[in-house]
Amino acid sequence: MNSNYQLVKAIQYARTQIAQGGSESALLDAQLLLQHILGCDRQWLYMHPEHPMTDTEWDSYRELVERRRKGEPIAYILGQREFWSLTLDVNATTLIPRPDTERLVEAALALDLPHTAKVLELGTGTGAIALALASERPEWQIDAVDYSAQAVQLAQGNGKRLKLPQVTVFQSDWFSEVKQTDYDLIISNPPYIAAEDMHLEQGDLRYEPHSALVAADKGFADLDHIISCSRGYLKAQSWVMVEHGFAQGAKVREIFTEKGYKKVNTLTDYANLDRVTYA
Ligand code: GLN
Repeated sequence: MNSNYQLVKAIQYARTQIAQGGSESALLDAQLLLQHILGCDRQWLYMHPEHPMTDTEWDSYRELVERRRKGEPIAYILGQREFWSLTLDVNATTLIPRPDTERLVEAALALDLPHTAKVLELGTGTGAIALALASERPEWQIDAVDYSAQAVQLAQGNGKRLKLPQVTVFQSDWFSEVKQTDYDLIISNPPYIAAEDMHLEQGDLRYEPHSALVAADKGFADLDHIISCSRGYLKAQSWVMVEHGFAQGAKVREIFTEKGYKKVNTLTDYANLDRVTYA
């Protein structure tokens, strides 16, 4: 038997390959891909280092390792990503939910909103923000929109699987199909990267849809549009909350203030960088 077929050897092989591809989490990636192939959890992997793989398992594993080595995001290969306390289905039609966006969820939960708040999420992608809020606040009524029909389908599927029917997902180009004008909170992680940003050529971003990442006017176009238009869709005493780039805080605060919003406040992400502004 080829000794590579033992789990511990297979992981060693995969780790080296994946690290050569530039991943900073090569060991974790190797383990996650193997769990995916074997349908087992992490603990089982650790307990069975000498377990032999079948030919088919080994071939499938090598294929996934090769995709990862070439740079394909682990979330797209696995078709899933953890966000908040939820496991979300993801695919290449949407942005991969980031831990930093959990700050947005945390901050929204900390607002003083009515027990039965009405919330609108713009550009929901996988549904991450809306579904995380729904999982914490079952009484909230949440609308989530996305421009992309495939994203709408994905978010609807996630809502169904996670049994969070209070989230209604529909297709809309920002506010184009939004009919209600009495939201307590409008929340969004819009595209905010400038087209010339070099980061677009690095890591997971190379594989994610540019429509979910890049905005005109140095990344401010969609933030500006959302902040400007939200006023027409809100109750009195309500909130708008957006994620933005770490260097965009001052300008985003300025946009909020220019449009007449009060109580403008920026929060930092886990790396202590400006990430969320609300007003
Ligand atoms: N935070 C993401 C990144 O910089 C971008 C997400 C977005 O454009 N909304 O990788």
